[in-house]
Amino acid sequence: MAEVLVLVEHVDGEIKKVTLELLTLARRLGSPSAAWAGPGFTPAAAAKLTEYGADKIYVADAEEITDYVVAPKAGFLAQLVASAAPAGVLVAATAEGKEVAGRLAIKTDSGVITDAVGIADGFAAEQSIFGGGVNVRSRVSRGIPIITVRPNSTTPEPSPGAGAEERVTVALSDADKAAKVVERVKQEKGARPELTEAAIVVSGGRGVGSAENFSVIEKLADALGAAVGASRAATDAGWYPHQFQVGQTGKTVAPQLYIAAGISGAIQHRAGMQTAKTIVAINKDPEAPIFELADFGIVGDLHQIVPQLTEEVEKR
Ligand code: FAD
Repeated sequence: MAEVLVLVEHVDGEIKKVTLELLTLARRLGSPSAAWAGPGFTPAAAAKLTEYGADKIYVADAEEITDYVVAPKAGFLAQLVASAAPAGVLVAATAEGKEVAGRLAIKTDSGVITDAVGIADGFAAEQSIFGGGVNVRSRVSRGIPIITVRPNSTTPEPSPGAGAEERVTVALSDADKAAKVVERVKQEKGARPELTEAAIVVSGGRGVGSAENFSVIEKLADALGAAVGASRAATDAGWYPHQFQVGQTGKTVAPQLYIAAGISGAIQHRAGMQTAKTIVAINKDPEAPIFELADFGIVGDLHQIVPQLTEEVEKR
């Protein structure tokens, strides 16, 4: 069976959930190979990748790989494409992942498809385009398919692979060293899950009314173990930080459950959340466009409904 290369996303040696999702997808397409770039590889990491189906694990753990911005990772994958001739390459549709994929496409003279929400047989990637108005299925017609996949598009399922490790030395070119990392600032790790990775997202919009009122949204999120999101109206008003904005100019999320409270459902907001598996809308206007998209809708004042919901969830 042909190899399907998966670039491992990891922070401080901890493998991101999206990688386990990609391995699960890769198993349906061929024999998954995990590509680990940078220091921090441990037996525990190897065990995790094997548990989720990696038949091979390529490890390039030289410090140098993460000393420079993105390019060495693309170089590492290009080296593997040349030596292992995989049937395709899957990368997480994160800011870094998309850049790696683009660079890899140039290096291997291949086509790249970004932001897929699923992959069917023959590497047919499914995307949601034009602000979520149209779903398309497309295939790369040149070189090998390089596909970036949105976090939460697939449920990760364990199914052990062979887990054969192979050390790889990456030869960095001058071009790979063009941008050096000068400083890393660690973000405070909050108690809530990361927005783009969370299985549940509770978002607030202009209907929340103020920065203080966002505590209502946060309480429900905490009761559900969810991440907090916000519409642009809420972030532009300074009620919630911009890094939590969901939508066309914010983050794209695809959680199992998305709760939109006091959000009208503008096309630019939908673009960032409409591939969520289940959408619940809370809005006092029964004509709000968000109800066209929602699986469940509650018409009413969020300041009454959300605390009641929180109370019910906390009882369970
Ligand atoms: P509104 O549209 O004002 O809706 C507020 C809703 O809250 C209403 O439906 C109202 O009925 C309801 N409401 C009010 N009070 C209550 C209450 N007490 N209880 C229940 N419901 C209540 N927007 C994004 O979100 N993300 C983006 O990334 C983004 N990018 C953009 C990019 C461009 C180029 C442009 C032009 C716009 C972009 N926007 C984006 C803005 C977008 O067009 C909308 O203006 C924005 O999404 C509206 O946010 P909202 O739904 O919170 O506010």
